[in-house]
Amino acid sequence: MSPFNLAGKYALVVGVANDHSIAWGIARALHAAGAELAITYLNPKAEPHVRPLAEAVGAPIVMPLDVSRPEEQDALFDAIRQKWGRLDILVHSIAFASHDELCGRVADTSADGFTKAMDISVHSLIRLARSAEPLMTNGGACLTMSFYGAEKVVSSYNVMGPVKAALEATTRELCSELGPKSITVNALSPGTIATRAAGGIDNFDEMMREATERSPMRRLVTIDDVGAAAVFLASDAGRNITGTVLHIDAGYHAMG
Ligand code: NAD
Repeated sequence: MSPFNLAGKYALVVGVANDHSIAWGIARALHAAGAELAITYLNPKAEPHVRPLAEAVGAPIVMPLDVSRPEEQDALFDAIRQKWGRLDILVHSIAFASHDELCGRVADTSADGFTKAMDISVHSLIRLARSAEPLMTNGGACLTMSFYGAEKVVSSYNVMGPVKAALEATTRELCSELGPKSITVNALSPGTIATRAAGGIDNFDEMMREATERSPMRRLVTIDDVGAAAVFLASDAGRNITGTVLHIDAGYHAMG
């Protein structure tokens, strides 16, 4: 049997907003590899965009989750416990910073704006992993989405640079703590992809142009590229890979 086969695995995917979302590329790939999915949507406004996608991959659990609402997270994990009794894969593909914070200098970031960006983009991973841990009774795989701006200054990425750096450090800490339970924790670091969240970044078109010109492969990546990498890390092929940041960026990170 292929080591990439996910038949019999249960996966929670958080972060689908529409069919451009990185989380959707991952959900589609996990489903194609055989996993059964739980998919969340942010709020009632998002539901009509997400529910048809969840139905297209036959997800038996489709529920709201705003990570700043603990009661929604509790209800989601109750539903997973009742339906499946366990969880094998957690995909955390969300980030938030208010427009002012995202477009301003890091030097001008307010304490409230910084705290909120950290809470929604980083501490939410901790909270989700904490809920997932007791359900990952056969081991498991946790995946989160970072960006090269965690490592080096990327023009216009602003406050999300320190936020993603914290996310990558959190990934390593969780990897250390959950490893004894055979739970892997990894970050994927995709290159620039035109999604709704990316639309909030000033000069994103310029970032896409630079990514194309400077990457050794002279091309952008797709949500399907990220999905394939997620399947690899979530499958038996990735069972001994943890605490890593896997760049899916056509080699952009290797350039000086
Ligand atoms: P997207 O807009 O499709 O997804 C962002 C998701 O975050 C949305 O589904 C949104 O509902 C969710 N979200 C925001 N606040 C939330 C909250 N309070 N509770 C629950 N969910 C919330 O954009 P995307 O580009 O697919 O972003 C997914 C992840 O990928 C993010 O972490 C982003 O930083 C990361 N990423 C994106 C790129 C890129 O170029 N698009 C590159 C590298 C990493």
